Amino acid sequence: MENINIAIIGGGMSGMAAALSLQKNGFKPNVYEQAPELTELGAGLTISPNSTHGLEYLGLKESLSAYADIPSDQAIFHYNTGEILGKRMRGEETRDLYGAYYYQIHRADLQREMSNLLVRNDPNCLFLNHSFVDLKQENKKVEVLFTNNVRKSFDVVIAADGIRSSVRSKIFDEEKPQYTGNIAYRGLVKTDKLSKDTVTPPSGVAIAPKKAFARYLIRKGNLVNFVAFVQRPGWNEEGWNIRVTHDELMSEFGDWHPRISDLIKAAPKENLFKWALYDRDPLDKWTVGNITLLGDAAHPMLPFMGMGAAMGIEDGVIIGRAFREANNINDALKKYENARKDRANFVLLKSRSTRDRFQSDSPEKYDESKVENEESLGLFNYKPHEVQI
Ligand SMILES: Cc1cc2nc3c(=O)[nH]c(=O)nc-3n(C[C@H](O)[C@H](O)[C@H](O)COP(=O)(O)OP(=O)(O)OC[C@H]3O[C@@H](n4cnc5c(N)ncnc54)[C@H](O)[C@@H]3O)c2cc1C
Repeated sequence: MENINIAIIGGGMSGMAAALSLQKNGFKPNVYEQAPELTELGAGLTISPNSTHGLEYLGLKESLSAYADIPSDQAIFHYNTGEILGKRMRGEETRDLYGAYYYQIHRADLQREMSNLLVRNDPNCLFLNHSFVDLKQENKKVEVLFTNNVRKSFDVVIAADGIRSSVRSKIFDEEKPQYTGNIAYRGLVKTDKLSKDTVTPPSGVAIAPKKAFARYLIRKGNLVNFVAFVQRPGWNEEGWNIRVTHDELMSEFGDWHPRISDLIKAAPKENLFKWALYDRDPLDKWTVGNITLLGDAAHPMLPFMGMGAAMGIEDGVIIGRAFREANNINDALKKYENARKDRANFVLLKSRSTRDRFQSDSPEKYDESKVENEESLGLFNYKPHEVQI
């Protein structure tokens, strides 16, 4: 198995996690990314303990302590009165309970640290400007065509090309991603532009009928990242990730507590975006012959539990371990899919149903001890580097 030729299509976080794990387990995968350079959206990402375990296994422990923030807790507060309705412990208590920290990081920092490590391990493994177009599977080989007319033959293809995966549409006959009726607004604000009250408590979610607004510190407290959700039945705009004005944000959140409205006013307009939120129904299989799906390509989910990247990182860790433990490619892909599918599909479905825990009609009745969340569902209690596969 050592000399097999593995292609990973897509150099997002999931594709890079898969590549790093395969490298760690003795393989030489190649990553093909459509973009001419690796760029990540200017936004924050929460890294829950299950995901931290995965990233540490891949060799990113020092990067996390250098670039990520550890919140001591996350508050849930009323959108209008600002009253604190609940608190989740996140600092040392979380580390003691799960053996790993809960982090908050700028996506660009994590992407850069992952790609630097990948290329340090193997300087020739990353191919930018390679957009997947088509594939053909014959005699246990997969021939792949890229837009620049490059054709290559592989023993295995791992599709990590995101929610709109072109590989997925070639191997499964199914509907496109569906708009879920939810949009997310995102922004970044320098902390020194804000009063102390605006960032107290530093990490928290404001909850309201049909809306929620989460904000937290990244870059060692120098930036506040926010992501806000509203329900909107139709999406009539061009594209699914577009710039947004202060006026639109203020029309949604202008009458909210100053922790929110002052944050929006201070945000530079070039840092404001909105995304239409899509997902897909769970698949009952991810693998066809020597081609498999991973990350959002396999299980794109709504961001209400902040678990999408975490699931892709877990997938990545497990696929590397599966290739080391298996005797042949089919066995490796079977081990990977069997270990991952039920958990990822469960989280996909729960990410739909947990939207309303925050966006309920009576936020004042919020009771932290009664709501389902990523922690109460036991999702933090998973160690991708150790679970039996
Ligand atoms: C508003 C919002 C907030 C979120 N917050 C969190 C959070 O706090 N924590 C968390 O864990 N998750 C979060 N998520 C989810 C997370 O962002 C995604 O699950 C994660 O980025 C998926 O990574 P991926 O690598 O699978 O896919 P992607 O990041 O989409 O990467 C796919 C890669 O494939 C490339 N590609 C696409 N097509 C081709 C092609 N034809 N050929 C070659 N390359 C191709 C793309 O350029 C891209 O680089 C959030 C999501 C949203 C929308």
